[in-house]
Parts: sequence; C-alpha cells; structure tokens
Amino acid sequence: MSYFLCPSCGTRSDIFGHGGARQVADKLAVDFLGEIPLHMDIRTTSDNGTPIVTAQPESPHTEAYIGIARKIMAKLQHSRAE
Ligand SMILES: [Zn+2]
Repeated sequence: MSYFLCPSCGTRSDIFGHGGARQVADKLAVDFLGEIPLHMDIRTTSDNGTPIVTAQPESPHTEAYIGIARKIMAKLQHSRAE
C-alpha cells in the first residue's frame, strides 16, 4: 500500500511519504513494481472474495495491479529466455 485515496473527494495523500519504496528498490538493486493505493474499494472487494481486478476490471486500481503483474511477467519471460 502506497498512498491514501480519499473516497469522498479523490484526493491522494502520501501518508507514508512518497518515493520511499522506489528509493529502497534502487538501493537494493531490485525492480520497483508499482504503487497500490489504500482505497476502500480494494479493501471491500477483497473482503467480499471478489478482488478489485474482477469486481471492477476497468478501475484505475485494477490498472495498478495489472501493471505490476505485467512487469513480473516480462521479467519472468526475460529470465526464461536467458
Ligand atoms: Zn477527501
């Protein structure tokens, strides 16, 4: 979880600071995969057993998860080709 997205007004709040995970990834020489917001829709859909990617496939939250999955997939395909 990276930042808080206000369900009322959509404002993004970097409650953990911003860029920390990316900096640590750089420092450790590992890939930074992306940022997942703290958002009520993600919590409620997960608790209902229908994760956001299936419950709301067109949402920006789903795009964030898909983006991370694509990076992992590309990395795996690259390592398999070596
Ligand atoms: Zn707000």
